[in-house]
Amino acid sequence: MRPIQMVDLKTQYNAIKTEINEAVLNVLESSAYINGKPVQELCDSLSAYLDVKHVIPCANGTDALQMAMMALDLQPGDEVITPSFTFIATTEVVALLRLTPVFVEVDPKTFCIDPVALEKAITPKTKAIVPVHLYGQAANMEEIMKIASKHNLYVIEDNAQAIGCDYTFSDGTKKKTGTIGTIGTTSFFPSKNLGAYGDAGAIFTNDDLLANKLRMIANHGQSQRYYHDLVGCNSRLDTIQAAILNIKLRKLDEYIAARNKAAAFYNKAFTNIPEITTPYIAPYTNHVFHQYTLVLEGVDRDALNKFLAEKQVPSMIYYPVPGHKQNMFSSFGLPQYELKHTDWLTERVISLPMHTELDEEQLGYIASAVIEFITK
Ligand SMILES: *Cc1c(COP(=O)(O)O)cnc(C)c1O
Repeated sequence: MRPIQMVDLKTQYNAIKTEINEAVLNVLESSAYINGKPVQELCDSLSAYLDVKHVIPCANGTDALQMAMMALDLQPGDEVITPSFTFIATTEVVALLRLTPVFVEVDPKTFCIDPVALEKAITPKTKAIVPVHLYGQAANMEEIMKIASKHNLYVIEDNAQAIGCDYTFSDGTKKKTGTIGTIGTTSFFPSKNLGAYGDAGAIFTNDDLLANKLRMIANHGQSQRYYHDLVGCNSRLDTIQAAILNIKLRKLDEYIAARNKAAAFYNKAFTNIPEITTPYIAPYTNHVFHQYTLVLEGVDRDALNKFLAEKQVPSMIYYPVPGHKQNMFSSFGLPQYELKHTDWLTERVISLPMHTELDEEQLGYIASAVIEFITK
């Protein structure tokens, strides 16, 4: 059996090595390391794949979120609502810009922001909502967009974990996640579903003015060379990464299918284990399985993690400390939060290996190891 990894980038690379190596060599030969042709090609292909008007490439998913907030002219003191149960980047940029993070509860079944809790958290200072499509399924965007338009709020979708995911509205229309809100952001960090071989990210919007502003912000606030109208950043997606992403974008749907196949294998294996809740998929979304995350009841999670590690099966806790308990916000004078579902999940979730290269032998071995621990 091949060694089991949380994410097996090496085996995936081996399968596409010839194409990738050629594309990277072409960039080296062209010496257009910044803003070479593959960057524009990537933007065009992503714009077609996602059906969104503008794609603004940038250096990583955290910059993408930060620049989205900068483009919306959010000011210190403005409140930005985010789920507490997410990767820290979502809220970190709120704090970095001296905006006020407001943490809300997630739906314990979907792991995504709970629209009812979200609406309750709105105050006259609220300016934006940042839903996160956690683990690869969409947050309840129809409800979120209704609440946003009722209260006149911006919506920034953190789509770092769900690129390629389809959201279905109640009238049957489908849209890709990241293209529904005011702005969508994503990350091409190597382990993400569409991963580069280094850091990279992108921003999506259908708004021409915002797109123009985002492009300026990503390039030192520059309107024409050496004329700087805004305070911006230096945040680019480099040509080598774009050349790699162009190849991998063509395979994204195939990769999503492979992840779904692995998830289906796990689901079936865990069907009759009452201690395990397998991922729930809400009716308005499909799942691209960035992570395959179980909720455990009455299982010593740390002992399971250790038991699996001894059997050479990695497992991870995403995320052990929710945002509202992170020390980085201690100077923000945040209220005493009571987020029961978030705390409950934090203590019970465990993610199993999930990537495009898992074979049935590996999946069977992982599932048996989990079941062995729980039923022994
Ligand atoms: C990975 C990730 C980010 C940040 O992306 P980077 O490219 O690592 O900066 C932001 N939000 C979520 C939910 C993520 O998973």
